[in-house]
Amino acid sequence: KILGEYPEMKTKIKDLMPEIKKAVSEVNKLSVKKQGSELLKIDKHALDKREERHELPEIKGIKIGKCSFRLPPGPEKELHIGHALSYLLNNYYAKKYKGKLILRFEDTNPEKCEQRFVNGNKEDLKSLGITWDEEYYLSDNLAEYYNLCEKLLKSGDAYSCNCPSEKMSNNRKKRIRCPCADKKLNNNLRDWNKMKYGTYHEGVCVIRLKADMKSKNSVMWDPVIFRINKAKHYRQGTQFNVWPLYDFTAAIEDAKITHVLRDANWTQRIELQDFIRKKLGFRNNPVNILYSRYQVEGGVTQGRTIRELVENKTVEGYDDIRLATVKGLLRKGFLPETFMELLKEAGITKSKTTIPLEKLNTINRRMLDKKVNHYFFVENPVLLLVAKAPEKIVKIPLNPYTNKAREVKVNGKFHISRSDVVKGLIRLKHAYNVKIMKTGGDEAIGEYVEENIIKNVPIIQWVKGDEGVNVIVREALPLFDNKGNLNKESIIEHRGMAENAVLDLPIGSQIQFERFGFVKKEANSWILTHN
Ligand SMILES: [Zn+2]
Repeated sequence: KILGEYPEMKTKIKDLMPEIKKAVSEVNKLSVKKQGSELLKIDKHALDKREERHELPEIKGIKIGKCSFRLPPGPEKELHIGHALSYLLNNYYAKKYKGKLILRFEDTNPEKCEQRFVNGNKEDLKSLGITWDEEYYLSDNLAEYYNLCEKLLKSGDAYSCNCPSEKMSNNRKKRIRCPCADKKLNNNLRDWNKMKYGTYHEGVCVIRLKADMKSKNSVMWDPVIFRINKAKHYRQGTQFNVWPLYDFTAAIEDAKITHVLRDANWTQRIELQDFIRKKLGFRNNPVNILYSRYQVEGGVTQGRTIRELVENKTVEGYDDIRLATVKGLLRKGFLPETFMELLKEAGITKSKTTIPLEKLNTINRRMLDKKVNHYFFVENPVLLLVAKAPEKIVKIPLNPYTNKAREVKVNGKFHISRSDVVKGLIRLKHAYNVKIMKTGGDEAIGEYVEENIIKNVPIIQWVKGDEGVNVIVREALPLFDNKGNLNKESIIEHRGMAENAVLDLPIGSQIQFERFGFVKKEANSWILTHN
């Protein structure tokens, strides 16, 4: 690796070989522990970089090739990091056990669901590398839900309730079942039809499940399973006046799959959904795998907040690089494999899992470091004129892990970063040493010293003086400060000059501007992924 950074040393390596051999044999004589501690003296982060392998736990008793998992987005919003992690987990297990992965859009709220979110959600899943075997929309199954509701009404397990909502919630608090539950079947069916055919106005009547008013579990207190909502649905139009609620549809749809990865904070719903399935005569309950949903700390993930920020144009859109939406994170330069690695490292736990955003950054940096090429960029450039400089072709390796290099013909003119301009010796990386003698203004003057590496001389990046592309790099800062106030200047623009080679890179390319950070190319500027 060292040789990659200093190709000029390669010529001298032959002379050094006996020395190196001697050193290696001495290191090998040390114990492993001692080797480690000696290594730390040289580079105190050396051992941090050692990668541990993390694997997600096995699912016990699962039948390979005979299992299924689900992705249940509600097309009311764009996906954020929390959704991404949960869907990747399902995708991981479905592939691992050769099962089916089913994408089902939970679109039974006509007021909130929109086609653009269906499209957006699918786009995000694809970007994350998730592939699914089947796809359907709950709103297409309304006839099935209606039949099952009628079945419950006829078996006396559901009833229509015409109580005002205030009275209903007071009764529930007092654990009193309202008199509506004692209605005759004909009256229940009459109400149901009036709901279905639009005779009743919204809020006049609901269908409730006859569950358990005495239960300690509040979701069992005769929950509403159908309500009137006459809003136009993005997919079904105005043909339906009555819409089912979450637990009812989840009970039915989850019976169609074998393994449900479920938020451990929502276990109270399992009792209700099992109860609904039992009343409907379904034999199969899915296997519940409980885990705590991942909370990412330091990122804006709240659906409503994101929507507001987008709608009042505080941010550029759902793909704004300051948001923790899937679109925002991917645009910023997070790699899909970073999320999967994060999952493996965080593991599956039932206790609340809070992941600092910094952890995600650390993993992504590591992933990027392995694959991106390095280029030179100088912020706030100053022209450096070097006297007595030889014309020379320098080879600059594309990254420390490859032999591939680009060749740059240099003379005595360079752009260097203003912050690197100090009187004294510097080394222009991969080129030669220069003694800077005059500074000030937009120009510095120096003198060629020699090519050999001199110890303790700062090594700086440069751009050829008669070339260079003006570049703006946009850096995202947190949108909100510690007190929750909006940070008005949360995008910083770094201006500088990059070498001409970056012109040819396609939009979306991710590279490293050495000693500056990982960046991603956009049409008119660059994005700072990590510094
Ligand atoms: Zn009632």
